[in-house]
Amino acid sequence: MKKPAFTNFGDRLVLNFTNTVQYFRGQTVDLIDSPSAVIAWIRYMEEVGEIATVQYERLLGESTWDLPLLGEFRRRLREFLVNNPPDHIQQFSPYLTSVMAHSPLMFTVVPHVESLNFDLVPIPQLGGVPGLLALLSYDSLKMITSETLLRVKKCENPSCLAYFVNNSGKRKWCSMETCGNRRKSFRHYRRYHHRE
Ligand SMILES: [Zn+2]
Repeated sequence: MKKPAFTNFGDRLVLNFTNTVQYFRGQTVDLIDSPSAVIAWIRYMEEVGEIATVQYERLLGESTWDLPLLGEFRRRLREFLVNNPPDHIQQFSPYLTSVMAHSPLMFTVVPHVESLNFDLVPIPQLGGVPGLLALLSYDSLKMITSETLLRVKKCENPSCLAYFVNNSGKRKWCSMETCGNRRKSFRHYRRYHHRE
């Protein structure tokens, strides 16, 4: 079966990870259901700048990929996001901390791509799934301890599973192409074909 493409709608690593499950042609599709698909997703995140090259190299230094752990993380993350997340931070954060314990983070400094500044970049001790989960947990912890959490929003297309950061306060759709235009043309259709 043809799968939908990876997306970068989330505006941060952990939300892009949340969006690796999509509703597509009437079915829920897991975009990272094999080690090669996880590796392809990590590569895509590196291309769009959500994963730094040093992190990418560490993650792919591992050849075994325990996919159920990734699925469990995504399931718990989606469960957390679905219902007023600020109320559930204290229940969710111990899980994130425990996940990180399998591959603690060390920090390194790398030159910023577009300026003369430097970025502080966390590098997981292990690669593979433990390393990826450590980076995702760290990004989750940063998200839930900042005001960003209040701007996390689910796409308004009821059959879309995507989450994103609603920075403008006005964004309704994960993307205009996949959801916005479809809803608009649906309303247009109703307006012009249901008059009799
Ligand atoms: Zn959408």
